[in-house]
Amino acid sequence: MASIHYPHLLAPLDLGFTQLRNRTIMGSMHTGLEDRFYNYPKLAAYFRERARGGVGLIVTGGISPNRRGWLLPFGGTMNSLGDIWNHRKVTSAVHEEGGKIVMQILHSGRYGYQPFVVSASAKKSPISMFKPKALTESGIESTIRDYVRCARLAQKSGYDGVEIMGSEGYLLNQFLCARTNLRQDRWGGSIENRMRLPVDIVRRVRAAVGKNFIIMYRHSILDLVEGGNSWDEVVTVAQALEQAGVTILNTGIGWHEARVPTIVTSVPRAAFASVARRLKQAVSIPVVASNRINMPDQAEAIIANGDADMVSMARPFLADPEFVNKAASGRADEINTCIACNQACLDHTFANKRASCLVNPRAAHETELHYLKTAKRKKVAVVGAGPAGLAAATVAAECGHDVTLFDSNQKIGGQFNIAMQVPGKEEFAETMRYFSRRLEITGVQLQLGQRVTREELLTQGFDDIIVATGIAPRSPNIKGVDHPKVLSYLDVLLHKKTVGKRVAIIGAGGIGFDVAEYLLHDPSTSLPIPLAHWFAEWGVDPQAQKNGGLIAPAAAHPFRQIYLLQRKETKVGAGLGKTSGWVHRATLQRNNVEMLAGVEYQRIDDQGLHIMINGETRVLEVDNVILCAGQESLTELMPDQSSENGKNSTPRFHKIGGAALASELDAKRAIREGAELAASL
Ligand code: FAD
Ligand code: NAP
Ligand code: SF4
Repeated sequence: MASIHYPHLLAPLDLGFTQLRNRTIMGSMHTGLEDRFYNYPKLAAYFRERARGGVGLIVTGGISPNRRGWLLPFGGTMNSLGDIWNHRKVTSAVHEEGGKIVMQILHSGRYGYQPFVVSASAKKSPISMFKPKALTESGIESTIRDYVRCARLAQKSGYDGVEIMGSEGYLLNQFLCARTNLRQDRWGGSIENRMRLPVDIVRRVRAAVGKNFIIMYRHSILDLVEGGNSWDEVVTVAQALEQAGVTILNTGIGWHEARVPTIVTSVPRAAFASVARRLKQAVSIPVVASNRINMPDQAEAIIANGDADMVSMARPFLADPEFVNKAASGRADEINTCIACNQACLDHTFANKRASCLVNPRAAHETELHYLKTAKRKKVAVVGAGPAGLAAATVAAECGHDVTLFDSNQKIGGQFNIAMQVPGKEEFAETMRYFSRRLEITGVQLQLGQRVTREELLTQGFDDIIVATGIAPRSPNIKGVDHPKVLSYLDVLLHKKTVGKRVAIIGAGGIGFDVAEYLLHDPSTSLPIPLAHWFAEWGVDPQAQKNGGLIAPAAAHPFRQIYLLQRKETKVGAGLGKTSGWVHRATLQRNNVEMLAGVEYQRIDDQGLHIMINGETRVLEVDNVILCAGQESLTELMPDQSSENGKNSTPRFHKIGGAALASELDAKRAIREGAELAASL
């Protein structure tokens, strides 16, 4: 029966031989747990929570059908009967919660970070160090057999189906596109030849698993690379896949090597739903929309408008396993929304670390981080309602403690109030909405507009005092730093002081980049950036007439002339996130921001900023110099500068987030520290 909330999204989907309880899919997300047999109990617990949370269909992280298909050395593989015992832990956990789960079969082709890589042709990818070998005719045949064996083993493991990964530039996508398929034989040339491998795989898997088993295929509907497929080719492939036995067509946008962002926070929500819609009109099996869909109202609109039959969200289920149950019971305002930062999920995966989630540190740590009810209720003060303090206060209250949260500001959020001023970071407001609701639900007593002192705290009988007071911006020791043309990033982003047309930014960390993006934006144009502008800016043709949907980007019209400076000799922006930093660098480059490394600051005066670079002096004749030179901890409330001090006396003092350590601080660490400390009180 359809829910009264989000009736289209939450309506069941009848596949003939089986029924999905609603139209939501938890898309494939590599956590790292699937690569080691001893982590399968953790993986099972992770999926169990998501199944209990109501999602319609879960897709596992990618599992390789053979060694050559490994993404990383010794990555998760299913090629022998021995593998099914681990996977049964996962399938049983999901089925016990009433969910359904398919295993993704992923052959990474030339994206594999290992020396055995193969592809359609011997052409190296720009983002990989290993040159692939072209598969021989017999190599292709054995690859097809490996897919079939893998699917049969998945079936024996209790999966409800498989997802065959055909997008994001992995092996099957490499066969499909002229960019990577230079073959002259029956596997290359025309689209009929290039699609032979994926279509044969689907046909033979279908023959092996019978008709009552889901085969979902993730089809690349917008390659976003030179030499990608045209729309006509995308449709030809989709129709052939349908004929070959695919049950559901999932969609993928952009190869990993594409230079167009497809999932980071600055990509407009549901940006690619119209492309899924065109595919839906060309086939008769269910089509899934994906990419940057993170709240139920958008997902509902996608189904209600007829853009797609299902909606895939991967990261949003890391952020909140209860997404669907909350939506179904009219509690969408309680959803912990994925802000598309990639900081704890994809950035971890690419660093070969276990994935988690910035806004939900329990993700993929369900058996390690528990928010259990306490037997000994304590009176807890949390000072500072930034991400660290919010996490600490809400988790402590959830565990049953009596919590008071203080902040000198009139609203919660700390630096997130500043971050959300940056174009493309509008999602950060969702985290504040989530915490604001969570404070109400958990019964935290909130005292805003109050800068508390240690003395005041000591008179109120607290057992534990958590200092989460964050940071203060650093003022660098540069001659003329008190000149009227010098502003701090707070002056610009928070206090909205007037900024001239020529600007030098001192400090090229995350905040320096954000300030540059903020100042490039013409304030007379609305935010978030309208989709058509965003497509034009990044050179995307959603009609995909040729080149996988790439066209020439529109000319940039920077609102200001900007210099972004650092003292280090390293590449400017090298410290930004692995999967998002390139987007920030590309934006600044397109807008002619001059990024200078190895700078020595000499002085600031009426003329501008005087620097020494490459042994020569240079004057940057700017109207304003903006300081983004890092931050220092605010620890005035601590008994002394050591968190150890006072631990054994009452009240016990703790410090977390920026107050504990300003360097390399980000919200991921702040929230994790807050949650971990509160869970341990
Ligand atoms: P804060 O957020 O600084 O919160 C501290 C709180 O304590 C404040 O609300 C303050 O008012 C309060 N306070 C201080 N002293 C007292 C007192 N005596 N009494 C009462 N209240 C007090 N991080 C990311 O991970 N990803 C990003 O993309 C990102 N982008 C950013 C963009 C910008 C422009 C900025 C400025 C920051 C960004 N950050 C980002 C950093 C992130 O916001 C911080 O790491 C995080 O906010 C630190 O959390 P915190 O709780 O330790 O401190
Ligand atoms: P940061 O990343 O540490 O960068 C500080 C910058 O200031 C560096 O470029 C540094 O480079 C420069 N600097 C440091 N001391 C200086 C001095 N005395 N004089 C002149 N320059 C100096 O810090 P941030 O930009 O303030 O960001 C704070 C935190 O927020 C970061 O740790 C970051 O993780 C987080 N954040 C993240 C994002 C994101 O997108 N993930 C965005 C914004 C912020 P040199 O020392 O080489 O000059
Ligand atoms: Fe979403 Fe960021 Fe969490 Fe990844 S780390 S799931 S992008 S909020």
